[in-house]
Amino acid sequence: RNMSVPTTMKAVVVEQTGGPEVLQFKTSYPVPTPKAGQLLVRNNISGVNYIDTYFRTGLYPAPKPEILGREGAGVVAAVGPGTSGFQVGDRVAWLSTGGYAEYTAVSTAQTAKIPEGISDEDTMASFLSGLTVLAFAKETYPVQKGDWVLLHAAAGGAGFLMTQILKTMGANVIGTAGGAEKCALVKSLGADVVIDYRSEEGKDWVKIVKEATGGRGVDVVYDSVGKDTWEGSLEAVKRKGTIVWFGNASGPVPPLPLAKLTPKCVKIARPSLFGYIQTREEFESYTNELFGLLKSGQLKTKIHKIYPLEDIAQVHKDLEGRKTMGKPLLRP
Ligand code: NDP
Repeated sequence: RNMSVPTTMKAVVVEQTGGPEVLQFKTSYPVPTPKAGQLLVRNNISGVNYIDTYFRTGLYPAPKPEILGREGAGVVAAVGPGTSGFQVGDRVAWLSTGGYAEYTAVSTAQTAKIPEGISDEDTMASFLSGLTVLAFAKETYPVQKGDWVLLHAAAGGAGFLMTQILKTMGANVIGTAGGAEKCALVKSLGADVVIDYRSEEGKDWVKIVKEATGGRGVDVVYDSVGKDTWEGSLEAVKRKGTIVWFGNASGPVPPLPLAKLTPKCVKIARPSLFGYIQTREEFESYTNELFGLLKSGQLKTKIHKIYPLEDIAQVHKDLEGRKTMGKPLLRP
């Protein structure tokens, strides 16, 4: 039995790419109808990720008009024809697009039931970001106990979780972050070395990384900052080391001559979460692991702030202005 669902809803729509001003708040946008294999979810809370800004600016192309927002948590309000495995009333978290709205029609393929004892808010503070961190630390480069790891933007939505996961895996973590408050947060998570890469001393973070590793460099760099850090990351990695470039917070890594990798026999990867969770088996394996870590208290979440839907432009400004610590969330 379906819940009573209105015909219109609040939603934020992007009609053309641009700055935060292209995020248009609408109060009577049509509620989508779930198709076969889909669920209609009434979102209680949605995650805001840096990737949303790439779809807004057009760095990542996607058809417009588009409702941004790659993840949400809430209650199943209706089930599409022939859709199995979920019922109206189930509390779920999903990965798809359209989270900046009260309702989203999503495929069941990347929807998970949230276990009892885990809040929607904790789930959204760790769902897309936490799955990313697990996949990149286990598959892109399998982190080993004792590895030295350099992690940029360690106080961010993904970075806050990654610092903790790397420590539970037994790595030595060197975290970078902008400003004293962010650095104190990263330190509190157990990072071994924390560098404020915006400070005078921290600007030469490559030198600090080299010193911390006895001149050798790190086994792996996780770099989501991109344009501003890629060259330093290449210097900071050890001979036979790995660089995982996975984001463009400062702009994309420019086209790179492969010969740059040769002197140190460096391996590079440019992964995407979605490449690791395409089968139901892969998706469930990572979501179960994440829920397990949340339930046991091994993984702590940090919500920067919960913003009302109509303040979405401010969230994008805060993210791009490097003002957030942990994860910004949206209350549709
Ligand atoms: P964050 O909360 O980490 O926000 C981005 C952070 O990047 C900022 O807070 C800032 O931290 C740092 N930064 C450095 N330089 C700049 C700059 N010039 N402008 C803005 N920010 C800058 O975002 P998310 O946790 O949502 O995502 C983190 C990164 O991971 C993003 O690059 C994202 O695209 C990527 N990502 C990639 C995925 C994939 O599948 N490939 C999946 C998930 C995330 P500070 O002030 O400390 O420098």
